[in-house]
Amino acid sequence: MRLSENVRQIEPSGTIAIAALCRELRAKGRDVIDLGVGEPDFRTPDFIAEAGITSIQQGMTQYPPVPGIAPLRAAIAKHITATVGKPADPAGVVVTSGAKQALFNACFTLFGPGDEVLVPAPYWTSYPALVRLARAEPKIIETTPEQGFKVDVNALEAAWTPRVRGLILNSPSNPTGAVYTRSELAAIASWAAKREVWIISDEIYMRICFNAARATSLLDVVDSLDRVVVIDGASKAYAMTGWRLGYSYTSKQLADQFSTLQSQITSGASSPAQYAAVAAYSDATRADAAIKAMGSVFKERRDSVLEHFREHAPEIYCFPPDGAFYVFIRVDHYFSDVLPDSAAFCRWLLETTDVALVPGSAFGADQYARISIAAPNTALEEAVRRMGTALQTMEARV
Ligand code: PLP
Repeated sequence: MRLSENVRQIEPSGTIAIAALCRELRAKGRDVIDLGVGEPDFRTPDFIAEAGITSIQQGMTQYPPVPGIAPLRAAIAKHITATVGKPADPAGVVVTSGAKQALFNACFTLFGPGDEVLVPAPYWTSYPALVRLARAEPKIIETTPEQGFKVDVNALEAAWTPRVRGLILNSPSNPTGAVYTRSELAAIASWAAKREVWIISDEIYMRICFNAARATSLLDVVDSLDRVVVIDGASKAYAMTGWRLGYSYTSKQLADQFSTLQSQITSGASSPAQYAAVAAYSDATRADAAIKAMGSVFKERRDSVLEHFREHAPEIYCFPPDGAFYVFIRVDHYFSDVLPDSAAFCRWLLETTDVALVPGSAFGADQYARISIAAPNTALEEAVRRMGTALQTMEARV
């Protein structure tokens, strides 16, 4: 089949092969522990779900305005204002079908053929694909655990060329859990302003932060919205992945462009999801309580997973995450002729132990694998115990 140049470079998500094998093993009755999932294992808080249900019962199910219903844009702007202490304009908010669509809008609007976009690795799996969909080129910057899996101005400057138009930052990071400090972000923001590089700052995990109530936002360190797009949404903080509700925040001028693009693609996010999100973003007391409760569970699990590794698989290096809900572990020590890369390793691990992880290759870091801690502690401990046993058996054979 002859497909268009638009999609020829797009590869299926790196999680698909493992997810398919998970389903196959479960169908055979195997007790699979799936630590591949990228969504909170909590229900959407009732007060949010009820607002969505009420809107349906009241018949508010027509097409919404393309950039989002007015009360939601206002509630998000108010939420940003309260969070960063700087006035935010509702006209700069564009509500999208998940944060992913906001990322697409930004990449497709800002970048095009001949442009390069800096993407620090390990990166969230969709960034390079989103850049390529705009027919621009992702330029990957490797980072190491010694650097805290973060880029600094020196690394950015070394990767810069006159073709570089953008930089995609993600703090807290999926998959590493790395969190940029205020001074690190401020340095990057002033470098980007000097080099006239757009920053797309994906802050979807901002409220899942273990050392503070939230991670620093790019908005904390910039004085203007010139060349700044912030991406966030309800999926992770409010356990609303299936509602598909995200947003971007930028200048009104650029937001209008996003809205024009969106008007030709999805016509905007679904109305019930938007009414539910009005409750999430305007009832700060209940929302904060729900987020705090989920955050403390993630923190406890983060601590216990690191402890389980020390106990059951001490030879595996775990990068200690400061946010999000993943632990990135180094697995290349176990590579061999038969297990040459992280995909083969994760497949072997799933077949041998019934534990599913996502291979690091999905995030541009083949030496690693990602564990999601969006699972009960008992499952996490059992998974690490099984991994430890399988890896010791493997080592004993070599
Ligand atoms: N950005 C990051 C870093 C993510 O991990 C995800 C989801 O896994 C998204 C964006 C997409 O979020 P949404 O489900 O709201 O589209």
